[in-house]
Amino acid sequence: MSWAIGYDEHWNRDVGYGVPATCDHAGCGKQLDRGLSYVCGGLPHGGEEACGLFFCEQHGGGHQCARCAAGAEPFAPTPDVPVWMQHKLTDSSWQQWRDENPDEVAQLRALLNKDNTNG
Ligand SMILES: [Zn+2]
Ligand SMILES: [Zn+2]
Repeated sequence: MSWAIGYDEHWNRDVGYGVPATCDHAGCGKQLDRGLSYVCGGLPHGGEEACGLFFCEQHGGGHQCARCAAGAEPFAPTPDVPVWMQHKLTDSSWQQWRDENPDEVAQLRALLNKDNTNG
């Protein structure tokens, strides 16, 4: 199976190098993708020990985030970026997902609309 796009059951979000995202370090906001080069722990879903969130180079992506290094609770995951939500709502490769998950589609639409009104 390809790691381009997958699903993380623990954090309930799309993962893989095909998924654009922001660094999960609080307040960072750096652009990355959810591929193995950025995952805490360096293994799919972080392996056994790490949180499996995604961090820029500065915050331990591919190695260990500050929280895991300190043995602390993981960071709160950052929300999906709007461009990714838009992709899921419009790209033909997500048609089947949209047919099967009408509730999540409605949720994404609501999130995107909220973003738009915030400017
Ligand atoms: Zn971590
Ligand atoms: Zn960062």
